[in-house]
This record gives sequence, C-alpha cells and structure tokens, in this order.
Amino acid sequence: MAIQKPRGTEDILPGQAEAWQYVERKAREWFARYRYREIRTPLFEHTELFQRGVGETTDIVEKEMYTFADRKGRSLTLRPEGTAGVVRAFVEHKLYAEPDVVKLYYLGPMFRYERPQAGRQRQFHQIGVEAFGSADPRLDAEVMELAWRIFTDLGVQHLRLDVNSVGCPMCRPRHRQALVEHLAGVKDELCPDCQSRLVRNPLRVLDCKQERCQELTQDAPTVLDHLCDACRAHFDAVRKALEALGVPYAVNPRLVRGLDYYTQTAFEFVVEGEGHLAGTICGGGRYNGLVAELGGPDVPGIGFAFGVERLLYVLAAQGTRLPADAGLDCFVIALGEAAKGEALVLAQRLRAAGLSADVDYLDRKLKAQFKVADRYGARFAAILGDDELARGVVQLKNLATGEQEAVPLADVAEAVRQRLNRSEG
Ligand SMILES: [Zn+2]
Ligand SMILES: [Zn+2]
Repeated sequence: MAIQKPRGTEDILPGQAEAWQYVERKAREWFARYRYREIRTPLFEHTELFQRGVGETTDIVEKEMYTFADRKGRSLTLRPEGTAGVVRAFVEHKLYAEPDVVKLYYLGPMFRYERPQAGRQRQFHQIGVEAFGSADPRLDAEVMELAWRIFTDLGVQHLRLDVNSVGCPMCRPRHRQALVEHLAGVKDELCPDCQSRLVRNPLRVLDCKQERCQELTQDAPTVLDHLCDACRAHFDAVRKALEALGVPYAVNPRLVRGLDYYTQTAFEFVVEGEGHLAGTICGGGRYNGLVAELGGPDVPGIGFAFGVERLLYVLAAQGTRLPADAGLDCFVIALGEAAKGEALVLAQRLRAAGLSADVDYLDRKLKAQFKVADRYGARFAAILGDDELARGVVQLKNLATGEQEAVPLADVAEAVRQRLNRSEG
C-alpha cells in the first residue's frame, strides 16, 4: 500500500504553490521597505528554549510540542513558533551590539500537535517580524502598520485591528490582584482549564474561548484600568501614532498575553465573518522582558506573526483571486526531424533571453502540440517546420489573438519580448 502524508500535514502542489510564493513575495517586498532583513533559524531547538521563551504554562508548551530525544538523549523540540529562536539567535550572535534598532523577519514551517481543522495544520507556516532595541511607541505603531499594509495589499477584507496594553511588571500585580478577587466569586462556575489558570496565570482566564467563562468575566477588571503612568503614556502615544498613520483600530481591553515578558502593546488582526472564516489572522506585541529572560541584556522587542495557511484560507473564502499558474511565454512547436533539433536550440535561446519556453518531447502531431501549448498557458507558439527551417524563419503565433507572422529565427526571442511588453503596456 502506498504511504500517505502524516495527519496534519499538507503537500503544497503546483497550482497551489504559486499563491504561497505570491504571499511570500508580497511580505518580503513590504519587509524590505521597512528595512527588515531575513533571519533563518533552525527548525529544531533545545526544548528548554521554548519552555523559557514561550512559557511553561502555555497550551503550546504543555500540550502541543513535538519533543523528542536525539541519539545522545538530548531533549529537542520542533519549533512551535518563531520568536524564541529569533531571540536566541539575536542573543547568541550578539546582534544587540549594533547601536541600532535591529529589524528581522522570518518565514517557514512551525510544528504544533493540534487537532487539524480548516486553515490549521500540525505543520503550518508562519511569517513574522521582530524589532529589537527601542521602546519608542512609534515603533509599535510602525510594526502594526506594516502588518496592516501587507494584509490590505493582499486584499484581505473585513479586517479589524484590536489593540490593548497589558501593562508592565510594575502595574500588572495590581491588576492581577483585582482580577483574582473578582474571579474568586465565580470560581466554581469557570471551566476546569480556567480554574487552574486562576492559580497559575489568572490573566489568561480573560482569554478563554468558552462562552460561559466569557460571560463570567464580562465585568472583570482589565489591565487598562490599572496601567501605571509610564504604560498609560506609552499606550496613548501608540494610539496617537496609529491615528497619524491612518491605521484604523479598536481598543480591546480583553486582549491579553499571559506571560510576564509581554509588556505594554498587544494587538491582533481579526477577520470579521461567519463560522470558520472569522477569527484572528495575526497576533503580536511588545516583549520587553524576553531578551533578558533568554539570557541576553535588557533589550526591548516587539513583533508579530501570521499563519500562511490561515491567511490563504481567508483569502480563498473571501473570493480573492490569487496567482495559480504563471503560464509560459512561448511553446516551440516542431514538425519533422530536422525541425525538432532546431526547436530545442530555439527554446534554449528564448530561455537565455529571460523568457519561459518549452518544447514537445512526446512526438505529438501539430494539432496535439497546439493543445499542449494551450494547457501550458502559453502566450505564443513558435512553429517550426521543414519549410520554415529552409527559409530560416518561424511562424510566431499570438495564441490569444490568433495573429501570426513569419519571424527570422535569430529574432524570435526579441519578437516575443516586444509583443509581451506591448500586451502588458
Ligand atoms: Zn506599567
Ligand atoms: Zn474557561
């Protein structure tokens, strides 16, 4: 029996990969405009990195990691997210020695043992950025604006940006205490997960997806009510900068990130809609304590990440057309033995000129070769028979308009290029 792919993985086939390349290309273009540079970190890291960098009490670390012992018994984990590895590399290579804001981006597969569903896989792909070295609230706004640019450029509709401040280690204990006091009254009605969160990480009760828990925490005190002066000023400045940049947003005081090294700005891009379509497509925020948590100096950071599968799912569901096949500039049709040899050389010349070209290798008749050209999405056919060969020309046919003319063999590449430019003009 043939072997099948593991549950929760996908093969990205030709015809689908073009949409992936398109999203990646758009993201890279926008990253470059904001001076983000690519970093590539390993797909697996020491398990401890994620325990410290993602947090022991998170669902990711508690339930979802692919952790294994290597042949020497060391505990390794397939990366479940991108930030921890980037911060590790930032510290390990002392990138903080640059007296500058360091802007990094990454893209690639991540791994989480979750129940697969629409737009959610066990091997999934994330694109994200991290900016280190500045606590300036304008940088928070720029990071959000960058994500907003990418999504609007890709044509995401019904997009909402939720923004919040989760405070800092100075002001959070006050909120934590008020929250615990508030929740003590409804403790027994909370879901089992939340009852344990209440002890270990009460902030995350606000994040629970259970309807009953959301009802019970409706009037719970939010961090926004307890911000210290510095966090209040930071949040106000972030909002002002977002407004100056013309980025629409809503304050969502229930937006939380339950770990100590997350500070101040937290944000999410949410798609509004029905059922599976609705939900978060991108999350991010400030993590001024993370670099130090992972053994580096006290350097502030901020970033975001979005899942490519989820984004493509939303775009498809919203009816956005994405590139599926780039087609072919020219298919070279050969008739007769001598012409076949010459067709290969002509294809070579077209390719060397930067055009895409192919020839028939299955000994097809003229009509069948035209059908192939059509199937390949060819824009031009260069027809080469013994007669044309003797005259040193090809019949160059525009397959969209049907126009056809004889072009000297040596000029075919240039002729195709000119006609392509004209039709694009
Ligand atoms: Zn504070
Ligand atoms: Zn709950």
